[in-house]
Amino acid sequence: MSETKYVYSFGGGSAEGRADMKNLLGGKGANLAEMANLGIPVPAGFTLTTEVCTYFYDHDRSYPSTLAADVDVAMIRIEKVMGMTFGDPTNPLLVSVRSGARSSMPGMMETVLNVGLCSATIPGLIAKTGNGRFVYDAYRRLIMMYSDVVMEKAAGIEPAEGQGIRQQLDRMLEQVKEEHGYASDADISEAHLKDLAERFKAKVREVLGKDFPDDPKEQLWGGIGAVFGSWNGRRAVAYRRIEGIPDDWGTAVNVQAMVFGNMGDTSATGVAFTRNPATGDNKFYGEWLPNAQGEDVVAGIRTPNPLNEATKNEQNQHLPSLETAMPEVYRQLHDIRDNLEQHYHDMQDIEFTIQDGRLWMLQTRIGKRTGTAALNMAMDMLSEGLIDARTAVLRVRPEQLDELLHPIVDPAAEQRSQPIAKGLPAGPGGAHGQIVFSADEAVKWAKAGKTVLLVREETNPEDVEGMRAAVGILTGRGGMTSHAALVARGWGKCCIVGAGTLDIDVVAKTIQVGGQTFGEGDVLTLNGTRGLVYAGELPMIDATENPRFVDFMALADEIRAMKVRTNAETPDDARQAIEFGAEGIGLFRTEHMFYGKGSEEPLFLLRKMIMADSLPERRASLDELFPYVKRDMKSTMEIMGGRPVTFRLLDPPLHEFVPQNEAERRELATALKVNLEELDRRAAELHELNPMMGHRGVRLGITFPEISEMQFRAVFEAAVELLQEGKPCFPEIMVPVTCAKAELDAQRKLAEKVHAEVCEKYGVDEIEHLYGTMIEIPRAALTADEIAKTTQFFSFGTNDLTQMTFGFSRDDIGSFLPDYLDSKILPVDPFQVLDRDSVGVLVKTGIEKGRSTRPKLKVGICGEHGGEPNSVEFCHMVGMDYVSCSPFRVPIARLAAAQAQIRHPRG
Ligand code: ADP
Ligand code: MG
Ligand code: MG
Repeated sequence: MSETKYVYSFGGGSAEGRADMKNLLGGKGANLAEMANLGIPVPAGFTLTTEVCTYFYDHDRSYPSTLAADVDVAMIRIEKVMGMTFGDPTNPLLVSVRSGARSSMPGMMETVLNVGLCSATIPGLIAKTGNGRFVYDAYRRLIMMYSDVVMEKAAGIEPAEGQGIRQQLDRMLEQVKEEHGYASDADISEAHLKDLAERFKAKVREVLGKDFPDDPKEQLWGGIGAVFGSWNGRRAVAYRRIEGIPDDWGTAVNVQAMVFGNMGDTSATGVAFTRNPATGDNKFYGEWLPNAQGEDVVAGIRTPNPLNEATKNEQNQHLPSLETAMPEVYRQLHDIRDNLEQHYHDMQDIEFTIQDGRLWMLQTRIGKRTGTAALNMAMDMLSEGLIDARTAVLRVRPEQLDELLHPIVDPAAEQRSQPIAKGLPAGPGGAHGQIVFSADEAVKWAKAGKTVLLVREETNPEDVEGMRAAVGILTGRGGMTSHAALVARGWGKCCIVGAGTLDIDVVAKTIQVGGQTFGEGDVLTLNGTRGLVYAGELPMIDATENPRFVDFMALADEIRAMKVRTNAETPDDARQAIEFGAEGIGLFRTEHMFYGKGSEEPLFLLRKMIMADSLPERRASLDELFPYVKRDMKSTMEIMGGRPVTFRLLDPPLHEFVPQNEAERRELATALKVNLEELDRRAAELHELNPMMGHRGVRLGITFPEISEMQFRAVFEAAVELLQEGKPCFPEIMVPVTCAKAELDAQRKLAEKVHAEVCEKYGVDEIEHLYGTMIEIPRAALTADEIAKTTQFFSFGTNDLTQMTFGFSRDDIGSFLPDYLDSKILPVDPFQVLDRDSVGVLVKTGIEKGRSTRPKLKVGICGEHGGEPNSVEFCHMVGMDYVSCSPFRVPIARLAAAQAQIRHPRG
């Protein structure tokens, strides 16, 4: 006997597993067990654990020796509970073989239904049910799924586009429907289904060179092997990469007694969300199909019926709801919905089947939702008392806020335009782009820097990479629970499904609608919040502030321990950031006043200063430049109204500012009273081989102290003038690119001198401020105890620190980083997510050393990482006082900081 338990049974009112055993049983298996324990009707079954999957891949795709016997025992248990026997000719039990990873991977892996149907069991099942049509419908489905999943995909056969066995069989089915005028699958007669099944088997033999197995046990083990095999299928691997799911988690396999939604008009199948996953409304929301089997709803084969009034929309309002068609079953389902929400304290995504008027639950899991829905549900459940404030704060992923703050189609522009089609609003926000008709094209075009919308009849798991690459997704078929809708919602991507009036031809690459034709590359605009499709490009605007959002952020703010500042250098940015909740500016880059709108004058003066050849010449230019710098600093501090503003001294290498075009060079030469040759000679002197590590940052202030002096004076005069006008302000002076205490001593002496001069000029004793440095060179982090003797704050510049720690040039990583990520040499881009193992160690060391000599040292971060949730969590854990990020990321950082405090409380 093996020590390890590989098989867990469930059903008949109890189960060996529980919801918290997801790692072992997979999400599906764990929740089936949980539902069984709750007394919810679940067809009996058993789960082969993820450890079997691990074993399978560690042992050349073979199973633990005890597994077959364990499966036999578990099968007998199902047979007892269900009162049927697997393979029995008179009373046959059929089962499904279902995959189930730890976290759901919608449609990524395989499921086979109706396993156990064969020439020996078919007559018995017909006799027992008196429904030959149903039996042959189940049989043809089994052949389709089994040949596709087990005999083709799991066997590693990669058929040509459109030539997969499933597609070939599908075409045969379509042909029968066409020939005999059947409107839907449900109309096909028993005789035609029976005939089709025989022809299917012949086709399978012809295409795959093997017989469809006629033995229930062979079918069962074929199915189990295929599900384990599907874990390493191409689609599943691609999906895991996108979602960051580790390859070694493995999947579980669930074998479960079949219940049949295709037994006639009193049978049905459906999927539902306990609340609306797009809006968060507290309304039961779902779709169902009478006389159908599970996969029909998700596959978007027919437009599904609405579950209830709340689910009706333009596409389905003429179809009967479950609420009216089967009121008793609906009531029961509604009770289960309440029961599940009370039990799980969260919105659930459920699958159910009704067999001859009897309800069975087949799945429950935490439902994916849009950012808007996540926010609304969190706040609703908080007020319903279903969850507490901390749970509510954890319910919205910081990246989802991005979606709430993201652009929507300008309603004014929509007013003026006529949509070309309407579909279901499956993923929120707006998007416009050039249309492409295949996932491959989407990936290709996106790589070429184009903005694309992926247009498909319906999407399937093979399309995920293309869906990822597109800014929006548009499909002609499928409902709110179709594959496209599920995936888009999970990603918060703009998506419209079921735009049925569009005649989409992916082969011809055209959309025809109302006499118009759109081809590949044409631009469309999608309003994913309302489901509207427009021709051409409509303008976008930012989503307006929603009061729910404000309340939610207030909850987060109450919890978080770190402050959140912004990186801003224009008044617009500063104002925007305050609206988003910034509590100060963590990085004001002085050089930004030399770029962009209105920069001509100061830029010209800066260039004059750079090209100056002597101290007097340089001083003269600096004097001219001074009022511009001071004005900018003053207006920024004024907007920030007493919140701290960190001014970083001029940072970039000077040659960046040397004009390239001749007219500008001539103008500059004239102003300096030199000829063009002389100017070019001076410019050439500034040229550096490795400017990123060249004459920049504090090094400029060391060789040209007058440049720093001018900036110190600007800061102090701006501050004292504001104070004398009765306007509070708090400047912090930050020296960049430092590596030694002595650099900071020298600059500080200058700053003190200027401070004294300004105080005297304005008749004040002191201008309150802080003097600090960026820590962005490894040496600075490693000697932080020394550096902290001179400085009152550190701000970690993790962009440069990452560059210097990895030795990766920030400007040149494009040529190799993608390869590093693809081949998993690095798990993520270290410029996006702070690398805790290296840069993180420097940050931690820097803080510890700094605070060893100056316990009250103020510490923050001002690199891009300051707005990335995982990095924000790290900043919290190492005891930073604040993070600083771009204005749009401020809410994300606020939420990430609150979640970090909940997960890793600090005093
Ligand atoms: P997925 O993870 O792709 O949703 P599932 O394993 O949930 O795959 O199964 C696909 C479909 O088949 C679902 O609609 C499910 O409800 C249905 N199904 C699975 N097992 C059974 C069963 N034992 N009886 C009836 N329907 C089933
Ligand atoms: Mg499912
Ligand atoms: Mg830097």
